[in-house]
Amino acid sequence: MTRIITALILASAGLYAQSPPSMRMYVFDCATLKDRDPAAYGLTREQVGSVDMSDPCFLIVHPKGTLLWETGLNDMIYDRPEGGGAKHDKIDKSLRSQLAAIGYGPADITYLAMSHAHGDHSGNGNDYAGSTWIVQKAERDFMFSDGVAATTSVRPDQFIKLKDSKTIIIDGDYDVFGDATVTLISTPGHTPGHQCLLVRLPKTGPVLLSGDLYHFPGEREFHTFPPGSNAQYVASRAKIEALIKTTGAQLWIQHDMIGNRKLKKSPEYYE
Ligand SMILES: [Zn+2]
Repeated sequence: MTRIITALILASAGLYAQSPPSMRMYVFDCATLKDRDPAAYGLTREQVGSVDMSDPCFLIVHPKGTLLWETGLNDMIYDRPEGGGAKHDKIDKSLRSQLAAIGYGPADITYLAMSHAHGDHSGNGNDYAGSTWIVQKAERDFMFSDGVAATTSVRPDQFIKLKDSKTIIIDGDYDVFGDATVTLISTPGHTPGHQCLLVRLPKTGPVLLSGDLYHFPGEREFHTFPPGSNAQYVASRAKIEALIKTTGAQLWIQHDMIGNRKLKKSPEYYE
């Protein structure tokens, strides 16, 4: 009898670890990008509150599985005490260690999705090659196209293992768990298959994660674009602004250092 009870307790503890009673979203610090130039976003230094950028990653825990959104800068290259990288970007804690601190390893990540291929979002992509990767067709084609490494902000060696991952290739918006709680929103322009993520949390309400659709709040306030932005980029911002109006979602601009400081970080979470 004792054995059966123990087994039941263990089974329910295991079940709880896999299926929490409600959704959770954790925010990780996946790097600080130092001293970025606001002119690259059509802004002056006076129009931005900080020239440093946050670079968060997010884990969404859903009864039907987990979704890792973004993988940050590559841990091996940037994890140096003095801060490594060309622009002295720095990582204080690896994504792996932050996931481990709340009991998750790469094998516990059901789905991986990234806003886009740039190195500050895809840097640890190889670590999650065992997950099911959800990617826009246009972005995947871009990531594995000839000569993509010639652009400074894409590092194919850091996500090359995803090429052989179990993959869901999408072309447009996509409902990850089939219940409209977590939806990828196609927003091409910054890259060919850029996407944002809409998360409808039971207590917090809808939150829209920007990817790099915006970098600074000033781009919304002063209606500026990175110089040379294409028509797709303009249309994608209009789509997201309309979505914010209809859903009442909070927009979290991922690279907004000042906004990021106000967010609860893992092991705390949003529900
Ligand atoms: Zn970025």
